[in-house]
Amino acid sequence: MKNFDLNFYKDKVHEECGVFGIFRNGEDINIASVARDALYALQHRGQESSGIAVNKDGDFTCVKDVGMVSEVLTDNAMEELDIKGDIAVAHVRYTPYHSLDRAGSQPLVIRYIQGAMAICQNGSITNFAEIRKSLEEGGAIFQSFSNAELIAYVIATERVNCETFEDSVKSAALKLEGAYSFVITCPGKLIGVRDPYGFRPLSIGKLGKSYVIASESCAFDSIGAKFVRNVRPGEMVVVDEEGFHSYQIEEPKTSSLCIFEYIYIARPDSVLDCGSVHQIRKNFGKALAKTWKGEADIVCGVPDSGIDAAQGFAEESGIPYSGAFIKNKYIGRNLSNMKSSKKDRLLKMKLNVLKSQVKGKKVIIIDDSIFLGNTSSHIVNLLREAGADQVHMRISSPPMKHNCYYGSDLCEEKEMISNLMSVDELKNYIGADSLEFLDPDVMKDIVTKDGVGVCDACFTGNYNAPVPKENFVDKFSRKISLKK
Ligand code: SF4
Repeated sequence: MKNFDLNFYKDKVHEECGVFGIFRNGEDINIASVARDALYALQHRGQESSGIAVNKDGDFTCVKDVGMVSEVLTDNAMEELDIKGDIAVAHVRYTPYHSLDRAGSQPLVIRYIQGAMAICQNGSITNFAEIRKSLEEGGAIFQSFSNAELIAYVIATERVNCETFEDSVKSAALKLEGAYSFVITCPGKLIGVRDPYGFRPLSIGKLGKSYVIASESCAFDSIGAKFVRNVRPGEMVVVDEEGFHSYQIEEPKTSSLCIFEYIYIARPDSVLDCGSVHQIRKNFGKALAKTWKGEADIVCGVPDSGIDAAQGFAEESGIPYSGAFIKNKYIGRNLSNMKSSKKDRLLKMKLNVLKSQVKGKKVIIIDDSIFLGNTSSHIVNLLREAGADQVHMRISSPPMKHNCYYGSDLCEEKEMISNLMSVDELKNYIGADSLEFLDPDVMKDIVTKDGVGVCDACFTGNYNAPVPKENFVDKFSRKISLKK
């Protein structure tokens, strides 16, 4: 067996965060319990901390901690929440900077001169360093490095000069740059905000007469709510006892939903700005099939996000689809605080091959992306060991070459294997008989529709929004590599 320098954990994009909010419109529902069910559906977006805050007439109860939903929001813990509350916000967290500090867990409940608020956020503020520095120079004290704390502080500062809470959220949003989607509650109100580029998803749904807001529509299905629409880039939606209100804080800028939501992050049963995640992944696979010229016996996908693309490839090419990979679902979550050697050992054990499906066959294997190349080498090796005669790898995204500044945790540009070798060299490195990536223009065409576009900067280097100008590494040990 080939002995690779394994680093499986860094060989994937890592999820960001999932946010959820509910405004109970007089119905007899336990909003804390609904919020927990929604978080279960959003768990794939973050496994490092979980929490719910319930707002009853401005009194907030909150349960949160480091851990997955089932570990933190146990039946006992849920008893601490006021189930008679009218509004709840909830969060699952992935932290790109591996700081498993409890202080960074969300929801973040803030008490300030005008009352209290609870906020849950997803994304990365690119002028974080500048805003934080100026607040600290004015005497502000922070307990974490989270964007949520920064946003809450800016809102609290603006609130002093604004007539309403919504006005302070609007003014704060105008000071923020980069990628953010957040839900926030103050007495009597649930508010959802999405940045003017729309980097991170945010959807609105209805559960009976009650409004719900979530990072992905799959959360609505899990609680029996109906998807209404996506929050528009630059829009603030407010739900209060008078109903639902929409305000356009800023004109939408270049439409930039993170394309990795379609490639890997979002659940296939979610519907984002450009449509069904499952269908778009299938279309990626169909596009790959159009350039396939050889002969093969089966096509299979690397679970989970390679499967939809493999089904699309099979449909387009007529080559039979096979579920040749078995994934151990109980490994690979909540690994951030483990030593790399243990983490890599566990992730290596995560996949196994059904030998009977691949022995003596020409196999096409579809994966969603290649970062370092270690996982691809491992997968090709598994297929060879299981007796595959030929292994042809197809990737349902283009070669990854650039950093992300908008909240996805990728390995660094200098480590990306596509910056270190050609596609042909990479084919040899991973041991495949052939290797092909999805063309970036084809990928963009598949996703873009009706003027709604995507960010694809980590493939093309075209950053639609400003990237960070200041580096926070020295003072706060935050790993942000500035654009050269
Ligand atoms: S740079 Fe890549 S990972 Fe980051 S938001 Fe854009 S598409 Fe997503």
